[in-house]
Amino acid sequence: MAENKMLKFVSLEQQTPPKRSAEERVNDFAEIYATFVQPSAQAQASRCSQCGIPFCQVHCPLSNNIPDWLKLTAEGRLQEAYELSQATNSMPEVCGRICPQDRLCEGNCVIEKDFNSVTIGSVEKFLTDTAWENGWVKPRKPRKELGQSVGIIGAGPAGLAAAEMLRAKGYEVHVYDRYDRVGGLLVYGIPGFKLEKQVIGRRADLLKDQGVTFHLNFEIGRDASLADLKAKHDALLIATGVYKARDVAVPGSGLAGVVPAMTYLTTSNKVGLGDTVPEFESGALDANGKNVIVIGGGDTAMDCVRTAVRQGAKSVKCLYRRDRENMPGSMREVKNAEEEGVEFVWLSAPQAFLGDSQVTAVKAHRMRLGLPDSSGRQTPEVIEGSSTNLPADLVVKALGFDPEDLPKLFGAPELSVSRWGTVKVDFKTQMTNVEGVFAAGDIVRGASLVVWAIRDGRDVADQMHSYLQAKADAAIAKAS
Ligand code: FAD
Ligand code: SF4
Ligand code: SF4
Repeated sequence: MAENKMLKFVSLEQQTPPKRSAEERVNDFAEIYATFVQPSAQAQASRCSQCGIPFCQVHCPLSNNIPDWLKLTAEGRLQEAYELSQATNSMPEVCGRICPQDRLCEGNCVIEKDFNSVTIGSVEKFLTDTAWENGWVKPRKPRKELGQSVGIIGAGPAGLAAAEMLRAKGYEVHVYDRYDRVGGLLVYGIPGFKLEKQVIGRRADLLKDQGVTFHLNFEIGRDASLADLKAKHDALLIATGVYKARDVAVPGSGLAGVVPAMTYLTTSNKVGLGDTVPEFESGALDANGKNVIVIGGGDTAMDCVRTAVRQGAKSVKCLYRRDRENMPGSMREVKNAEEEGVEFVWLSAPQAFLGDSQVTAVKAHRMRLGLPDSSGRQTPEVIEGSSTNLPADLVVKALGFDPEDLPKLFGAPELSVSRWGTVKVDFKTQMTNVEGVFAAGDIVRGASLVVWAIRDGRDVADQMHSYLQAKADAAIAKAS
């Protein structure tokens, strides 16, 4: 009888790809995890118990066929495994690197409780990196041109996933982005130590090979209005993400040295890509030699503290108003930050930023957790008389993002948005209230995850295809 290659979780322990030591990795912005080598990936995939109801798949936003591609990997059928994994995911190598797997697929793996989960994300990364190395990743060229064109505003994961699907169907696809590079937050938000930039660069090249046209340094609201683009294309997609930084209303917010997270991270990413950024050259946005305080407890805050460490900060503190158990950021990232020397000041919130013109300290309250609010989370309360001053030369505010005022920015007051500013769409068709204009990704959901942006981009492409087919059919019927 042939040997069963699966269910090895009882005899084989979980193993993750090697992580570079903290001492080594703080000296550069390269990724901290290596990719599996083939024998380890095969062995780790063989730990899967091939569940009848795979909860890993249920909790993957893309419903990836995880058990099947793990089995193919365990059997050494890597190209088939890759083909299956890419059938449901436009960027498996990105998700394998930066999905919060502990909350999604791996966190729901049935063997997690007693044996530690199958390392799904690392296998997904291994498969796709192997596919790139072996030339298995090919542009999805259309079989025929359909003669209709689509405009996509935003070259982040939602826009790129939609662009790939729509081009494969045969539409002429134009992607507009105000940045000078393709990738959205994958390039200018997320630091290289989580996701190296060449991973996005080769995806962008693949889309260009596929025939997608990019219009970079092109901002809707400055270089064209929504109506201008609507006149040019048969359908439009808004995939602009959310970028308006939430602020903290305390005295001293306007002092030099108090900066929003995206300004700080974008500068660091640009410098890493070889650009010259005057604010970095002048030292204003460089943490080198400074006492840095980052305010916030999400993944953006984790990226800021770890960036500051790599820039050579004298000290890096993260101030968060709740405790470790109640922070929104991934525990894996908190652990990485602690290993790299970041100090977490839990249950602490800024009361004022101190200094004459340049910030010199953060005056912070101690907090305690009170009764749960309507969302069930305990509300932080100030402990009166508990203030302390923490020295700071650079303060980074990482308190989350809201959408910009798109109807105003796009010169489209008719565009319907929610009270939070996210674009309203019909939940079945993903079309906005403006005929032929669709929306997807963070601009619809609010700040979310890459994997959800990809899912939305793929879904909206299907909806736009149905709309465009109906439009073409109507035009033929009218002409005949
Ligand atoms: P975006 O990626 O924001 O792309 C939108 C694009 O639209 C941008 O390129 C922008 O330039 C362009 N645009 C905006 N306005 C205009 C305009 N007027 N004209 C032309 N172009 C315009 N998610 C994870 O899953 N894992 C992580 O580890 C993770 N880390 C993160 C770290 C940081 C610092 C941040 C900020 C986010 C992180 N996220 C993470 C969230 C994730 O990056 C987003 O959910 C995802 O990128 C949203 O994709 P999107 O395509 O909707 O928008
Ligand atoms: Fe897990 Fe994300 Fe991959 Fe889905 S896409 S299997 S959630 S790593
Ligand atoms: Fe395999 Fe875990 Fe998914 Fe079950 S839940 S199919 S064991 S990866």
